Amino acid sequence: MEKVVIIRYSEIHLKGKNRGYFERIFAANMEKALKGIRHEIRRRSGRYLVENFEEGDEERIVKRLSKVFGIHSLSIGLKVPSDMNEIFAAAMQVSDESGTFKVETHRADKRFYLTSPQISAEIGGRLLDKNKNLKVDVHEPEFIINIDVREDGSTLVFNKFIKCADGMPVGTAGRGLLLLSGGIDSPVAGHMIAKRGMKIDCLHFHSYPYTNMQARQKVMDLAKILSEYTCGIKVTVISVKHIQEEIHKNCNGAYMVTLLRRFMMRLAERLAIKDGDQCIITGESLGQVASQTIEGMTSSNSVIEKLPVLRPLCGFDKNEIIERSRNIGAYDVSIRPYEDCCTVFLPDYPIIKPKLEDVLAEEAKLDVQGLLDEAFATIEVTEF
Ligand code: ATP
Ligand code: MG
Repeated sequence: MEKVVIIRYSEIHLKGKNRGYFERIFAANMEKALKGIRHEIRRRSGRYLVENFEEGDEERIVKRLSKVFGIHSLSIGLKVPSDMNEIFAAAMQVSDESGTFKVETHRADKRFYLTSPQISAEIGGRLLDKNKNLKVDVHEPEFIINIDVREDGSTLVFNKFIKCADGMPVGTAGRGLLLLSGGIDSPVAGHMIAKRGMKIDCLHFHSYPYTNMQARQKVMDLAKILSEYTCGIKVTVISVKHIQEEIHKNCNGAYMVTLLRRFMMRLAERLAIKDGDQCIITGESLGQVASQTIEGMTSSNSVIEKLPVLRPLCGFDKNEIIERSRNIGAYDVSIRPYEDCCTVFLPDYPIIKPKLEDVLAEEAKLDVQGLLDEAFATIEVTEF
């Protein structure tokens, strides 16, 4: 009797002619997720099996695979030779101690001497004989013993389905640059786009020494959490300290964030094109703060020349974003209290609906090109 992890995948099977391509990337992503754990992944008629791992590693394997996009659900099961005594012994092991149940059998091996209903009835009957705390309920059972008699002479027996991330394998839908702040929203935005199969790079702007090292560490910790879903991640960090000082010195303070955003977007597009990213992703949500009004977005978007800007959270309420942040395990890091560069030189009354012509008039007081080149030279790169 051998422990195995059964992997069921989601949307990939829809991909017709490209199926081979999707599955290759999917398999590589699973291998990456299980790096450092002894295992073998084998493809088996419409699903994958993880086998040959050390006793006790199954929880770790499930935890890591539950973050791989493309997996619909997992089960920890037992693999036994297709023999009724062996199948029964496995069913005993995976059964709950008590409660109502039914047995469901799928028989791929049509040569096996019993039919699916016969197998279910026989194993169910034996379970009832052996454990007086069990009762059959075929309509609303508390658990189901699943028996999968396969063509290769082995049978899989399992009980629970573990719901996983779904989505498409990362790497099958291009590559994008996520503007990653230390806040709640941007990691959620990155997660959503990665779920659709996009490989994610990150760009973070800091204003050290106005912002501190803990703020930077927080962003790195968020990137690391995201990297578990994105099969690794590259984080580029750029200093906007001098840009902020120049805006503070030369421009109407109410435009600080509006102007800074335009610099951020220009730097993002420049980096994206250099690194082969095909879009920019932000955590903006309509109307959430002063810079995220449609006028604010118009102002920051108008400096973008070539790439699309994806704003997956645009129609989300904060509560919905927080729930997603909790689900992906980012929330506790996101709420650490360190200041982001957007709070440096923050005016008492930021412009809420900036008119583009006013923004341009303020920006004209700056050496935009010089400041961009100088900021771009501060690039530092970390990989997870
Ligand atoms: P978040 O929770 O993601 O920080 P927010 O609600 O604080 O978002 P803003 O500060 O207006 O909103 O930022 C909007 C978006 O701009 C962020 O989601 C992020 O994509 C980007 N952004 C803001 N600050 C930074 C930064 N320091 N570095 C990189 N991107 C940033
Ligand atoms: Mg923020």
